[in-house]
Amino acid sequence: MRVIIAGVPGAGKTSIMNEVAKRTNHRIVNYGTVMLDLALEENLVKDRDEIRKLPIEVQRDLQRRAAKKIGGMENIIVDTHLTIKTPSGYFPGLPEWVLKEINPDLIVVVEAEPHEIMRRRRNDTSRKRDFETYEDIKEHILANRYAAFACSILTGAPVMILTNRDGMLEQAVQKFMEAFR
Ligand code: AMP
Ligand code: MG
Repeated sequence: MRVIIAGVPGAGKTSIMNEVAKRTNHRIVNYGTVMLDLALEENLVKDRDEIRKLPIEVQRDLQRRAAKKIGGMENIIVDTHLTIKTPSGYFPGLPEWVLKEINPDLIVVVEAEPHEIMRRRRNDTSRKRDFETYEDIKEHILANRYAAFACSILTGAPVMILTNRDGMLEQAVQKFMEAFR
């Protein structure tokens, strides 16, 4: 299978993927890491949180090259974003040409309550997260839902909304794993 997993920063994609990795033979590919490796080779950024601040055409070029690399892989779970908040607004993580490369069978959207996401971001010192209000996060979650269904229409892949509330990680992992049965 070829699965896309996405959600706002702090929704818990990486936590879910760390658990899923122990239970699947699928390879987990982090789209941002593929883009980061390309960007580091060209000295465009120092870390992954600088990618979304690059000029849009540079982000699009990295995105397109990452899609080509990932498109050649089989049995993958791609950890990525439906929309990325940039200084120019919401940048689509999965425009048509990226979807064509990945050709997903399933699109999973990880969601949590905005106040939970705010707390998780505050506690994650490994990242340079931008501060966002409750309303900002709510809007981003909504933008991702719209984008997920647009991707679904374009590809025919179903959308699974995965709620990752605090203390409910195991339930989210189990629901995710059901798609593989
Ligand atoms: P992450 O660690 O998942 O937050 O990814 C790091 C960064 O990679 C994100 O903040 C984005 O700038 C970039 N990125 C990840 N996936 C995509 C995508 N599908 N399209 C464009 N940029 C992406
Ligand atoms: Mg992540």
